[in-house]
Amino acid sequence: MASSEGDGSDGLAEVVDAGGRLLARGIHSPDSQIVARLWTFDGRPVDSALFRERFAAARRLRDDVLPPETTGYRAVNSEGDLCPGVLLDLYGDAAVLELTTSGAEARRAELEAAAREVFAPGRLVVRETGSARDRKLSPSRPAGGEGRGEGGKVPFLENGMRFFADLAAGQKTGFFLDQRENRSRLRALARGRKVLNLFSYSGAFSIAALAGGASRAVDVDSSAAALALAREQRAANGLPAPDEDFVDADVFEDLRSRAAAGERWDAVVCDPPAFAKKRADVDRAARGYKDVNRLAMSLVAPGGWLLTCSCSGLVDADLFQKIVFAASLDAGTGFSIAARQGAGPDHPVSVDCPEGEYLKGLWLRRSP
Ligand code: SAH
Repeated sequence: MASSEGDGSDGLAEVVDAGGRLLARGIHSPDSQIVARLWTFDGRPVDSALFRERFAAARRLRDDVLPPETTGYRAVNSEGDLCPGVLLDLYGDAAVLELTTSGAEARRAELEAAAREVFAPGRLVVRETGSARDRKLSPSRPAGGEGRGEGGKVPFLENGMRFFADLAAGQKTGFFLDQRENRSRLRALARGRKVLNLFSYSGAFSIAALAGGASRAVDVDSSAAALALAREQRAANGLPAPDEDFVDADVFEDLRSRAAAGERWDAVVCDPPAFAKKRADVDRAARGYKDVNRLAMSLVAPGGWLLTCSCSGLVDADLFQKIVFAASLDAGTGFSIAARQGAGPDHPVSVDCPEGEYLKGLWLRRSP
């Protein structure tokens, strides 16, 4: 940016060339590294009518791609739906609108009205995480984030399974909708298998595995609240929830003791939180991914599966695969990549903004 004018308090941005010719309009976040997120390139104003139109297009895309018996999904995915800075997740009758830039927060009233009009949710919760992000505070615990108080646990369906989004205290907007395709794949191969679900959050992978006929599924997470929700979800699906299937522990420590005990699992899921949140974290994150993968690999039975994931946008697919390769060398175990699966089609990625593709999942099959 050569220069800028105005204080940006209305959240609106106009981008002009050196001769003053209008190039694009968008939303302005003066304190962000990305000062403007662009919405139109044809002079069209950024207003309520545009928000309604973009949301309606996003809705039509979901009509084309969502599986049956699925009432929880991402309805608007930021740049991927030409709505930069705006996320909308639907959970049954409830919607969570997340405004991830301060500029989007400044247009909250119109965005909220457009979301109500197009999606007609029974209840709408708004999370403002943009200003916190600009000030480098943790976006998962937004300072001044609003609307959390009206939350609570909201039931919804995913491929016929019953889940709850914990809007009040949950992580993200209350559930990890981006793992739906991986849950389906696990369900399809789980029959008769024993599954270890690392960084389980509310245990959704385990429920998919058990729904697919797994003989047992164990959740490991360091959040007691997440594990309590995991038990409730199992019960809601008519699945047994024995105490020993919920392990409140640090995954790294838990894996070391399982490896020392010589445990073997038919399928292991490793879906940690983003280890790299900023560029300076990438080296340390790479070491973390390598450690956790090395340990997880050592627990996979010959012929078994490891689904390993990274949701750090800063660790790209290429780097992640190299880390996984290094981990397998250290573990002394051979694996083949049988599939790569990131987020589903309700998380579209703009070709102009490939950074939107943050979730990598590798399905690794251990050599027999
Ligand atoms: N796989 C989950 C989402 C995982 S989110 C799903 O599909 O729903 C990451 C989870 O890791 C969070 O629940 C968090 O509580 C947990 N976590 C983070 N660091 C951890 C650690 N060191 N040990 C155990 N759990 C951890």
